[in-house]
Amino acid sequence: MTTGTAPSDENSISIKVDLLIEAEWVIPIDPVGVTLTHHSIAIKDGKIVAIEPLHEARRKFTPDETIELPGHVVLPGLVNLHTHAAMSLFRGYADDLPLMQWLNDKVWPAEARLASTKFVLDGTLLAGAELLRGGVTCFNDMYFFPHATATAATQLGMRASIGLVVLDFPTNYATDTSDYLSKGLACRDEWNCESLITFNLAPHAPYTVGDKSFERVGMLADQLNLGIHIHLHETRMRSPTASSSMVSDRLSDSAAWGY
Ligand SMILES: [Zn+2]
Repeated sequence: MTTGTAPSDENSISIKVDLLIEAEWVIPIDPVGVTLTHHSIAIKDGKIVAIEPLHEARRKFTPDETIELPGHVVLPGLVNLHTHAAMSLFRGYADDLPLMQWLNDKVWPAEARLASTKFVLDGTLLAGAELLRGGVTCFNDMYFFPHATATAATQLGMRASIGLVVLDFPTNYATDTSDYLSKGLACRDEWNCESLITFNLAPHAPYTVGDKSFERVGMLADQLNLGIHIHLHETRMRSPTASSSMVSDRLSDSAAWGY
């Protein structure tokens, strides 16, 4: 990446902008499915005001700053639809185990020892840095201590859809379903005015959340117009084609609850 000042053209109409990004390729949201070659993105007050062919943009705009990106593609930020961002701190711990053994014998005991507001803040900051490096600007998370997740996301300038987790057993974060929900909804109220942060309800999975909790979550989702984030088809054994009657029953139930 290099920076410089675009040449001005005395005969052109000059529109002042804050930034001109000159990229070899630009993939816009609109029109869909198009890759523009040698185009510039003009930005003013934090918003894209034009995407023009490079020479046209140089004629039309006077930027405070120009960023030249030869050999680069500029595209909208990517979205990671399922994260437990803070668990970046567990990377490499207990890999390659079947899901329930991994959870019961390794992850849940480790979380009981370590999960805290600081753990989630630090882990989410680390994960966020890695997400940004990969072009991800928005993530859909599910973990304990959502206030810490929201804090990390806003510090990084990232968008986050934060799942207010619900489990039927106690953790460092909450004691029971009511406690999970009340803490989660209090966090949602606290962050209501932050434009980068949205919330959804996150009943963890059919094997950790019982019928009564699912019903409460479904009702709250309706009342508060919130989405639901859940592990439903997590492994082959928990897919709809599995023979497990529990999974089949829960899928039928989830349809009945309006999920
Ligand atoms: Zn997951």
